[in-house]
Amino acid sequence: MSVTLSQVVLIPMLTTLWVVLVCWGYYMFRAHPPQLTRQRNRIYRCQVCEHVYLDARDVPLARCPRCGVLNESVKT
Ligand SMILES: [Zn+2]
Repeated sequence: MSVTLSQVVLIPMLTTLWVVLVCWGYYMFRAHPPQLTRQRNRIYRCQVCEHVYLDARDVPLARCPRCGVLNESVKT
């Protein structure tokens, strides 16, 4: 088996490049994990019946599904 000079240079260089790319991908995935849902639900707590519910619409007031009172979001 004969090894050429280009193989001696290219194989370690490509192996190192592959390791760097794998490490870069790993740390990028750790820093910015893909989000499965882009939906931002707001949390509401009814002032009348204390019912806690979510609403995906971007509105300041949402109607309580139990009693129908409009409530402000407690967390966006
Ligand atoms: Zn209510």
